[in-house]
Amino acid sequence: MEETIFAKIIKREIPAEIIYEDAETLAFLDIAPVAEGHTLVIPKNPARNVFDIEPESFAAMAKTAKKVAIALKTALGADGVSIAMNNEPASGQVVFHAHFHIIPRFDNDKLVQWPQRPYPTGEASVVAEKIRAAF
Ligand code: 5GP
Repeated sequence: MEETIFAKIIKREIPAEIIYEDAETLAFLDIAPVAEGHTLVIPKNPARNVFDIEPESFAAMAKTAKKVAIALKTALGADGVSIAMNNEPASGQVVFHAHFHIIPRFDNDKLVQWPQRPYPTGEASVVAEKIRAAF
């Protein structure tokens, strides 16, 4: 895997506002935050995204994400947090080292929600059957 900017942050070759670290993960402030305190949680063991990451490494990211979420709520008085992960360019992934975005949320902060629409009649069961068959 080609080295990314996040690998350089792990090695302290470029600066970042690191807020938490353990043996398997690192959490630091996003350089261009959606909201103050927007944090990225990354595995130290490099992986491109959800498709190639080891399950243990993904679980370690989740554990750290929970700790970060609580810290953001406490420190910044957030009313909630959004946790997101982009996987591959189709979803908006730009840095190809797996990461969760942890974004502090506030009541009525007006951040855009994903548009949703109901399935046409009968479509949900067709889609669900296709996905069940892929496991
Ligand atoms: P993606 O679109 O890949 O899910 O998100 C990548 C994120 O990394 C973006 O939100 C971007 O602002 C952040 N980012 C890119 N380069 C750097 C950097 O050098 N330092 C930090 N702290 N964040 C970065």
